[in-house]
Amino acid sequence: YAKEQGRNQYQFYTSALSAKAPERLSLEKRLRQALEKKEFSLHYQPRVDVATGQITGMEALLRWHSPDMGAVSPGIFIPVAEESGLILPIGEWVLRTACIQNKAWQVAGLPAICVAVNLSPLQFRQPQLVETVARILQETGLEPRYLELEITETTAIQDIEFTRTVLQKLDRMGVRLAIDDFGTGHSSLSRLQLLPLHNLKIDRSFIRDLTNDKKVSHIVTAIVTLGQSLGLSIIAEGVEKEEELEFLKSINCESVQGFLFYRPLPVEGATEILANATEKNEIALREERD
Ligand code: C2E
Ligand code: MG
Ligand code: MG
Ligand code: MG
Repeated sequence: YAKEQGRNQYQFYTSALSAKAPERLSLEKRLRQALEKKEFSLHYQPRVDVATGQITGMEALLRWHSPDMGAVSPGIFIPVAEESGLILPIGEWVLRTACIQNKAWQVAGLPAICVAVNLSPLQFRQPQLVETVARILQETGLEPRYLELEITETTAIQDIEFTRTVLQKLDRMGVRLAIDDFGTGHSSLSRLQLLPLHNLKIDRSFIRDLTNDKKVSHIVTAIVTLGQSLGLSIIAEGVEKEEELEFLKSINCESVQGFLFYRPLPVEGATEILANATEKNEIALREERD
């Protein structure tokens, strides 16, 4: 069933990308109205500290429920949004919604965590990006250190000088910065070292092969070691198996994000998990005291 679904999605995706295909036009047309019709939502996937098991952050992931197509995967609609420029208003909505949500969690007394938001290449190159981020932080009252912005390695290295200029401005503002999908862009850490980064996210494809390909486990070990020596905190993406976690622990990888711990959750689920995390912390503190 999954395979069947995957194949259909792939066909959709291919046609979605060829400029004038009718499917693409209708998808784009639907996407154009989706914001107004409130068809988007955000799911949140917790990021977990390997040593303590604590939740240190949540990544906001965009979800689209179209009334006539049902749930459309980001892998399908994000490229269309990117090509049509619709990603700019959509991306701004994501940023604002994630900041509002994180502020609401804090106001409700839940543990202060960082929310990570993905920036597309077009968003990253938009001249008003820095102003937009500053304005949204001001409007929502979220402290900058509780917002993390993710750009992919491919976006980062396309024009490294430009990237550096933009990231420096964001860094001065106090937001956290991360490289997403690291390992897929064929760059080197020595180039990224010029950038004011906090986190490095190792792409899921490496984690998938971690425990069955010796070479991959060596590469991941090298990324973790070198990344940490450059002052970066490392997050492994897509951890699904206990063995993967054990290996990552053994090489002192700080954080993981993956189905083994949590799937991306709707707001209510994410809130519940944060609330439980508070309880657990309080119980631990109480036990320490007694
Ligand atoms: P990403 O930023 O690398 O996000 C991680 C993706 O991996 C998410 O897929 C997440 O659901 C999935 N994932 C997490 N853990 C596991 C695991 O253990 N196993 C497996 N198989 N998958 C896991 P999702 O939500 O479908 O998003 C796919 C991509 O779409 C994202 O990759 C990101 O590039 C893009 N995207 C999602 N939301 C946004 C957004 O708000 N703005 C932009 N520009 N791009 C977004
Ligand atoms: Mg991401
Ligand atoms: Mg990623
Ligand atoms: Mg990705």
